[in-house]
Amino acid sequence: MATHDKRYVIIGNGIAGTTAAETLRKLDPNCSIHLITNEPYPLYNRVSLPRFLQGVLPEQKVMIRDFAWHEQRRICLLTETLVTEVNTDERVVVTESGQHFPYDALLIASGGWAKPLQVPGAAGTKHIYNFVTLDDTKTIIARILESRTALAYGGSFISYELCDGFAMRKLETTWLMRGPYWLRNCLDPEGGEIVDAIARRFGVNVIHGDEISEVVARDGVPAYVKTKQGREIQADIIGVGLGITLNTSFLKGTPIEVRTGVVVNEYLETNVPHVYAAGDVAEFYDPTIGRHHTMGTWDNALAHGRIAGINMAGGHEPYVDVPTYTSPLFDVNIAVIGTAESNNPELESVSLREPGEKGHENYRKLFLRDNKLVGAVMIGSPKGRKKLVELIRNQQVLASPAEREAVLTLK
Ligand SMILES: Cc1cc2nc3c(=O)[nH]c(=O)nc-3n(C[C@H](O)[C@H](O)[C@H](O)COP(=O)(O)OP(=O)(O)OC[C@H]3O[C@@H](n4cnc5c(N)ncnc54)[C@H](O)[C@@H]3O)c2cc1C
Repeated sequence: MATHDKRYVIIGNGIAGTTAAETLRKLDPNCSIHLITNEPYPLYNRVSLPRFLQGVLPEQKVMIRDFAWHEQRRICLLTETLVTEVNTDERVVVTESGQHFPYDALLIASGGWAKPLQVPGAAGTKHIYNFVTLDDTKTIIARILESRTALAYGGSFISYELCDGFAMRKLETTWLMRGPYWLRNCLDPEGGEIVDAIARRFGVNVIHGDEISEVVARDGVPAYVKTKQGREIQADIIGVGLGITLNTSFLKGTPIEVRTGVVVNEYLETNVPHVYAAGDVAEFYDPTIGRHHTMGTWDNALAHGRIAGINMAGGHEPYVDVPTYTSPLFDVNIAVIGTAESNNPELESVSLREPGEKGHENYRKLFLRDNKLVGAVMIGSPKGRKKLVELIRNQQVLASPAEREAVLTLK
């Protein structure tokens, strides 16, 4: 048993890590807290980065915390500090520069980093960007200001955000994705068609079923890309949204179980005592669906951070929630609620497409397991979203077509 004040170490100062640090300080006034990040900033709002990219939000509004906030709470924030190793026998975290941080409890809240574009011509060519950090965003904006044409690549949320940013900044924008429609894990061809129509209204050239085979550069900057289907697409800037790889490499050689992410139970505990994981990087047990999964949403990471803080300080609170991803989609909204997986054979789905306000279309898709409502996607009007979340939380039984119709048209 530790006789000294408790020592907490947190890897990652995103919303999960910073919320955990704040919670720990509230629950344990005497403990020491080291919050470690490789980034140069205190907590900022990743969800606000797209609006910063579009030019509708200034940089100051992206920041959530400053250094003084940490000092006031005696949270020792170490920026530009990369964790390279964890030793669970010695209970110590090691950084790239050889610093050692002993812990009584450790939180892994390291999120994920974007997958780079790996095709001939990409390596060594400038102005090919991922879009995850504040620094990514600043660099992209600088390049946008000297560009005329842009390519957003991929079928992920991030690729859409890039596409939106390029189009809003009046670049001639192409959106290229390998799949038959955007967000193919959640949507279906009809939902995809609606998203395409929205993007095209903003002048975007949307191309499906094709992929980049080569980046052709001139003087080290992209001139155009060649595609597998034989297209040549001009692009002064290429934004890449091919998904993320969760940051677990520093756990190599430890007994901590890692699958896609760091495996934790509903209390966010790993298989190794005193080690927890939270946020995007956590592959957590979700009692509402009876299995583990990862969830890349702000609300989930925030709630995880709070629960992890409570449990690290000696509490025993499970994480049970309906994860919800909401985002603007050009000039409409999208919400992905609960388990919305088009490719999951255990789920049944029903959808409705109807005219919405101001010439838009509304699209709603429900996901059911054994007639119980477990997830939904909404594009267009957000009306009825809160009620829908409640129904999903309660796993409402919707057996008859009339019951399903009522929820599809819920306002
Ligand atoms: C552009 C963009 C738009 C988004 N829009 C939405 C949205 O509209 N709605 C929504 O719900 N979600 C959105 N998300 C997702 C949401 O931002 C994330 O789910 C959330 O921020 C995850 O928080 P986190 O604390 O788990 O991890 P992160 O915020 O990723 O924080 C992890 C931190 O740990 C650091 N780190 C990693 N490895 C190490 C290491 N070895 N040593 C030190 N530090 C390390 C990372 O650099 C990072 O700073 C968006 C994400 C992006 C990138």
